[in-house]
Amino acid sequence: MIYETFSPEETFELGKKLGEEAKPGLVYTLTGDLGVGKTVLAQGIAAGLGIEEAICSPTFTIVQVYEEGRLPFYHFDVYRIGDIEEMDEIGYEDYFYGDGLSLIEWSNLIQEILPEKRTDITIEKNLEKGFDYRKITLQEQQ
Ligand code: ADP
Ligand code: MG
Repeated sequence: MIYETFSPEETFELGKKLGEEAKPGLVYTLTGDLGVGKTVLAQGIAAGLGIEEAICSPTFTIVQVYEEGRLPFYHFDVYRIGDIEEMDEIGYEDYFYGDGLSLIEWSNLIQEILPEKRTDITIEKNLEKGFDYRKITLQEQQ
């Protein structure tokens, strides 16, 4: 599924729709360059789950847990992971295979433990289509 957005608000709204439709145990990976809109999309997803708390990039912790919404929201940023064992230490399986929505940034660094059943989200710019243009691809894996 490919979406195109032309403003941060549209990306937020797409995220909100994903959050509203999310079922327990859903796993999204989220990939894209710095400043492309990953946090904007994550904020939309959180809003769609009914989370009012501000969502920031979980840069200094591997996972940020938000429990006030319709489903728990597990926001991972594994950029600073040194060893895959750190994922075991935080008990990642309880998140990935639990009843919440997991959103994983920098998921390529933990490729070997990603659930097969997940949806990969990629956000890309295309400056020929304007500064605020974003192509957002959702690719379901099995
Ligand atoms: P990332 O988390 O990927 O590093 P952010 O979400 O923090 O990126 O920042 C994205 C930046 O791009 C914001 O300043 C936002 O206003 C801007 N922006 C412009 N157009 C869009 C768009 N279509 N979708 C999302 N963000 C956009
Ligand atoms: Mg970010």
